[in-house]
Amino acid sequence: MQYYSLNKKAPKTSFEIAVRKGLAPDKGLYFPEKITPLDTSFLENLNQLSNIEIAFHAIKQFVGSEIPESELKTIIKETLNFEFPIVSIEDNISTLELFHGPTMAFKDVGARFMARCLGYFNKNNNKEVTVLVATSGDTGGAVANGFLGVKGVKVVILYPRGKVSNVQEQQLTTLGQNITAFEVEGTFDDCQDMVKKAFLDSDLTTKKELTSANSINVARWLPQMFYFMFAYKQLKQHNKPLVFSVPSGNFGNICAGMVAQKLGFPFPHFIASNNENDVVTRYLSSKKYTPLATVQTISNAMDVGNPSNFIRIQALHNNDFQALKSNLSGYRFSDEETREAIDSIYKSTGYITDPHGAVGYLGCHHYLKLDPDVHTVFLETAHPTKFLDVVQPLIPKVIELPPQIKAVMGRPKNAKSIVNYADFKANLLAL
Ligand SMILES: *Cc1c(COP(=O)(O)O)cnc(C)c1O
Repeated sequence: MQYYSLNKKAPKTSFEIAVRKGLAPDKGLYFPEKITPLDTSFLENLNQLSNIEIAFHAIKQFVGSEIPESELKTIIKETLNFEFPIVSIEDNISTLELFHGPTMAFKDVGARFMARCLGYFNKNNNKEVTVLVATSGDTGGAVANGFLGVKGVKVVILYPRGKVSNVQEQQLTTLGQNITAFEVEGTFDDCQDMVKKAFLDSDLTTKKELTSANSINVARWLPQMFYFMFAYKQLKQHNKPLVFSVPSGNFGNICAGMVAQKLGFPFPHFIASNNENDVVTRYLSSKKYTPLATVQTISNAMDVGNPSNFIRIQALHNNDFQALKSNLSGYRFSDEETREAIDSIYKSTGYITDPHGAVGYLGCHHYLKLDPDVHTVFLETAHPTKFLDVVQPLIPKVIELPPQIKAVMGRPKNAKSIVNYADFKANLLAL
């Protein structure tokens, strides 16, 4: 499979190079040259296939012959070694729980897949790749965990001091081995700026092969299409069209759902559920794309002012505004509405949502008023204990920490304090 840059000023490249580089040399996002729908017999027989078989068939064409089938199967098997259950919440609303992986965030799947692909490509050479990640919380932990111990890969995580949750900080800073955490005096945007600057800094790029593990990387982004397929398999007996409500930040997850749709999954429509950072929602109603500065909210993994995958969504719709509008609705919900949703879902069903899932739930609710003949699914993208400071005050019982979280809580923290770019650069070169 060849990938091209959406800026169209860089040569086409292989899956391996797209994974190694992250971004194309013209700073564009890589996009698959062709998406071939899967056989209809595959969809008809889905019930008889395991998650691993489904994932293998779905991703095969995007990897091509660059990873042998037997190796690819092993990579997928290791990536998907946990469950993706559907839980019914109320009439025509279910949730797909994506938090059963090692760091209890949906990003575990993409991070584990990407790490294993890089591990495979590095098997027979001594090239070293440094993965740089700026995180507002969840990405860093998933990437650290996914890449731990992978040959030829060093991971450097930048996170804003005092602005990630306690659990998240433990997940980022306690692993050691090939994982280094930089604790930055500043905001998430400062962390992201340092990473962007590093990619353009020839002092660094001549000495180190740098890549990113954000959803701009095709190996982080594409495996997310599996979720929508696993949900479809579990809900097929409903015989109602499935509409997904995806709590969206950088729009990687929802964009992967649209790839599943292109592959032939009969999804009639998608809902992008946003917090106050609602550039796409505004675009869908005004046709004007005007990014604003990021606003801090309680669903902070979605605090993104200018979502990097939006350009991929446009490409999937041939840059046709009407085509996009008929496939995607965007809704925005305030922190107040999100808190009320966490409270009311718990009161009526006993189910505890995290703030991101709650935003997704609100999207389902809203959409069903317009189109009551569908079944909606919101993606529960993180376990509620990862956002305990928000969720616990709303729930009248003590929320138990799951074993994955308990296991990291007592470990000693190890992070380098970083004050500015020069400091970051010196520390990176010294690794
Ligand atoms: C990253 C993240 C999101 C947003 O996903 P995108 O693919 O960036 O749209 C939503 N919820 C949680 C918990 C996340 O960590």
